Amino acid sequence: MKLVLDWDGTVTVRDSLVAAVTELGDPSVYDREFESYGEALAAEVGTIRSTPEQLAAWAVGNVEIRPGFHELVERYSPIIVSSGLPQLILPVLERERVALEVRSNDALPSVEGWRVIFRHEGVCHVCGDRCKRRSLPNDHPIVFVGDGWSDRCASLACERVFARTGLAAYLDEQGVPYERYESFHDVAAALS
Ligand SMILES: [Mg+2]
Ligand SMILES: [Zn+2]
Repeated sequence: MKLVLDWDGTVTVRDSLVAAVTELGDPSVYDREFESYGEALAAEVGTIRSTPEQLAAWAVGNVEIRPGFHELVERYSPIIVSSGLPQLILPVLERERVALEVRSNDALPSVEGWRVIFRHEGVCHVCGDRCKRRSLPNDHPIVFVGDGWSDRCASLACERVFARTGLAAYLDEQGVPYERYESFHDVAAALS
């Protein structure tokens, strides 16, 4: 079994990219409408003008981790699969003294606005967007833990899903079975 964790809103209590854009970038980007998830992500990241050092310091000082994370890490060595940025994820993993495989998008820092670099060329053939289904491990079964929009397509490719908030509502609508969680202690207990 491979355990895959989304990062923002799953490992982190609050979405760290949304929080970083809100506090360091331009939150008015969330009032705009975009044709696709990929375009929205590029625009959001484009409002960040901090240096990587400033962003890392912000992440270390502000990003809170969901209870039970270390328990899951020790038992299952999960893979982090995220649409977010390594510049926000890696400093927090380092603070937590955790080394895990991270499969995420990337970004080129710039004072004119950071430029997102997508992990995969083109769009996912299933959903037609810049989704992270293609970042899943090849080995199945996969247990997927997520919370939001960017988890929808990837979660449908996994044998077992733990969901909360928006992802749970979506899977309800789709009639796809999943298990609810609030802390990672819930996930660890269900897996043991
Ligand atoms: Mg999320
Ligand atoms: Zn997809």
